[in-house]
Amino acid sequence: MPTQSPTVPSVTILGSDKPVRAGSIYCFGRTYAAHAAELNNPMPADPIIFLKSAGTLRPLAQGDLAFPEETFHHEAELTLLIGETVGLNESPPPGAIAAVGLGLDLTRREVQQELKEKGLPWTAAKSFAGAAIMTPFVPRDRFRDLGDIRFSCAVNGTQRQVGDSSQMFFSMPRLLNHLTRLVPLFPGDIVFTGTPSGVGPVKRGDHVRLAFTDLDLSFEGQL
Ligand code: ZN
Repeated sequence: MPTQSPTVPSVTILGSDKPVRAGSIYCFGRTYAAHAAELNNPMPADPIIFLKSAGTLRPLAQGDLAFPEETFHHEAELTLLIGETVGLNESPPPGAIAAVGLGLDLTRREVQQELKEKGLPWTAAKSFAGAAIMTPFVPRDRFRDLGDIRFSCAVNGTQRQVGDSSQMFFSMPRLLNHLTRLVPLFPGDIVFTGTPSGVGPVKRGDHVRLAFTDLDLSFEGQL
């Protein structure tokens, strides 16, 4: 089936048929201690941040993927959809997070390793078509406590990652506060909040299932 690409980068919200135009995509790294340890990285004193361009977005269900012959690493992450403008240096109010989704921060791990060794930016390893794989966002009021959201990632029927936002070394409010020290936030901005341990290889054609464990809500698609 041919992929119907949107004309502008956009995401969807569960229960709404109106796509939301995507703004900036901010990604945090090493927010879970166990994942930093599995890649032999020290825990940073401040959150590590990098960017993906809006052209990297694709739905989990199906879509474009650059470098289809390569093997990637899946990084399953809670993602936040910003719902209101938050000014520079302002503390984001609770309503700033309109919805929470699940995403794969798809990574060209070998390319990233080479760039890290050379002290170069990670862009070529993190920002390419299909590198920001998204489930539909789930409205925030479906979650009892953003500080305790359990999620999982399975590839080809095998569970690879299990996470819980209670295990985050940097909490979601801390991540957003860190962001607004750098830039204002706008409706449609998206935040990848970092991956728990269990990252591993995934390639074009693999079946991926991302689930909000406690909501009994899962999404699947083929990479
Ligand atoms: Zn990540």
